Amino acid sequence: MLRRFDMEGKTRTLAVDTRTLQTKILPLPKRTTSCCKDSRYRRLLRRAGSPPYPLQDDGITHGKEGLYLTTDLCPSSKKGFEKRLYEAIIRRFPHPVPVTLFITKRWIERHPTAFETLRLWDRIGSLAVTWGNHTAWHHYHPGKPLQENFVLSPEENLTDDILTLEKTLLERGVTPSIFFRFPGLVSDEKAVQTVTGLGLIPIGTDTWLAKGQWPKEGSIILVHGNGNEPKGVTIFLKLLKEGKIPRLRPISGISAK
Ligand SMILES: [Zn+2]
Repeated sequence: MLRRFDMEGKTRTLAVDTRTLQTKILPLPKRTTSCCKDSRYRRLLRRAGSPPYPLQDDGITHGKEGLYLTTDLCPSSKKGFEKRLYEAIIRRFPHPVPVTLFITKRWIERHPTAFETLRLWDRIGSLAVTWGNHTAWHHYHPGKPLQENFVLSPEENLTDDILTLEKTLLERGVTPSIFFRFPGLVSDEKAVQTVTGLGLIPIGTDTWLAKGQWPKEGSIILVHGNGNEPKGVTIFLKLLKEGKIPRLRPISGISAK
């Protein structure tokens, strides 16, 4: 059990399956037993929370095999979203196509139609969405050094920022996953401990396409689904066309290298 909360007058729990890493909303059990220390979930959590703590790109950055597509939905004033990206993978791969959305509350509130389209694709089985946490507010101060930016900004309350996003999803009927991405991929030891302390696994990337990194076996690919970085999406679509993305795997299937 990761959380407990009230929903429509009943107490519910957000629970994680320690073998499959899938989350589910369940009624509160009458009795609980403590979780085994050596599950796949615990091992990944331990690994993700251990040193060193680089300022950038901490967490799991690649898996042992396959390719993982992660698309960030940071706050954006852009209208719409990268529909061409999601439509292309829906056309190209057998359904449902696994994709991770690292989403923010500010993006959801400004893009209700885009959010509903993504939800619909998930519901009808075109996509198998992993709803990843990218914080509610995604603080960002242009020009400030990284040490005082993103979740390291002076006004950050990371626990509240994470739980607010989970509440936003739950209120809209979406089950949050255990996967988390730091805004700007910036963090320190304390931030990592806060995230793993809430039972979430930070996911970095070894393939930020718009920055010229190329996918290889096990890569976690990062593109922006919010329209803020069309270059990365264009590169991804080119790779797709050239047959360089043979298939995609769900992030819950990852085993850290
Ligand atoms: Zn972001």
